[in-house]
Amino acid sequence: MEKKYDYLIVGAGLFGSVFAHEMTKRNKKCLVIDKRNHLGGNVYCEEKEGINVHKYGAHIFHTNDKKIWDYVNQFATFNNYINSPLSLSKGNLYNLPFNMNTFYQLWGTKTPEEAKQKINEQIAKYGVKSPNNLEEQALSLVGKDIYETFIKEYTEKQWGKKATELPAFIIKRLPVRFTYNNNYFNDIYQGIPIGGYNVIIDGLLKGIETKTSIDFFEDRQHLESLANKIVYTGKIDEFFGYKFGQLEYRSLRFENEVHDIENYQGNAVVNYNDAQYSYTRIIEHKHFEFGKQEKTIITREYPENWDRGKEAYYPINNDDNQKVFKQYKEESLKSKNVIFGGRLAEYRYYDMHQIIASSLAKVEEISKRKQE
Ligand code: UDP
Repeated sequence: MEKKYDYLIVGAGLFGSVFAHEMTKRNKKCLVIDKRNHLGGNVYCEEKEGINVHKYGAHIFHTNDKKIWDYVNQFATFNNYINSPLSLSKGNLYNLPFNMNTFYQLWGTKTPEEAKQKINEQIAKYGVKSPNNLEEQALSLVGKDIYETFIKEYTEKQWGKKATELPAFIIKRLPVRFTYNNNYFNDIYQGIPIGGYNVIIDGLLKGIETKTSIDFFEDRQHLESLANKIVYTGKIDEFFGYKFGQLEYRSLRFENEVHDIENYQGNAVVNYNDAQYSYTRIIEHKHFEFGKQEKTIITREYPENWDRGKEAYYPINNDDNQKVFKQYKEESLKSKNVIFGGRLAEYRYYDMHQIIASSLAKVEEISKRKQE
């Protein structure tokens, strides 16, 4: 029997929305469902006091890929926001990422040569040849002062584990720079969509059938019967009934406050690096769009242990979880009618531009296969 839809897309985040948009352009009929009461997944913004609140954590768009930049610019105009977080540590404010400003604030070094010498001395003293964990990796990349001021306590509260028990790769995300440049990202293109991320999601899903507050697992058989193929962007272990065990995640809790002042911290992101604060950062949302509203909204971000009742934010890609994931991955390759994509289905920490690229690549791959 002819099915009503070509694709049932489970999850209206970036992967699902881009997929739906591209397939609709190719005359496929799509239905997008999401268990939340809104579309957009974690990029969703909630408007409060005229401010776009990044409800599921700060999202700053950045990419080196002109194709992806042009793609998102079809749907929104981006402002010239550059992410330049500050760090509050032991009572002092520092610029991030680690750059000449930070080194000056930390050691008083004024030239790249002085700063390099300082870092090299520290590495020589505390570094290790082949780092086996995050602590060793950090000590051999930046030395003791930077590690103890900015990394150790932040990382341990972020991940709920000792730095010596964490994989080294987490820290490779942190750039070190010998110029006075506070731009957190190295990418050519960066900004925030004017009007928030919902503008992009609305553009992607325009004219496409969507349903919110629908839990795929509560009505699975019926939903699966509606379409020829399924695009699944939820947790891969849940899709397979946890039959190889449960994958682990790190969760976050966000506490929002409205303040009756125009400007709370003067910057969108301030990291709180010390262990004495149980949150890792405070986000002041209006600064993403240079807002001039009378009030301001801040969010404290608390890392939390994850259980099935909570949002899964960061996959914990240690060896044990990777082994479990591998089994699900192999199983997923046998499910010919299901396409798995996105952070939860691929169990990978993706940035927005990477998700869009992977969704576009998936659409290309399918379209090519069909033509053969
Ligand atoms: N990190 C840190 N100190 C900081 C910021 C980050 O030690 O002030 C470490 C921490 O382990 C974190 C990783 O760097 O998990 C990546 O941080 P980033 O802010 O790039 O990632 P996000 O959490 O925003 O995805």
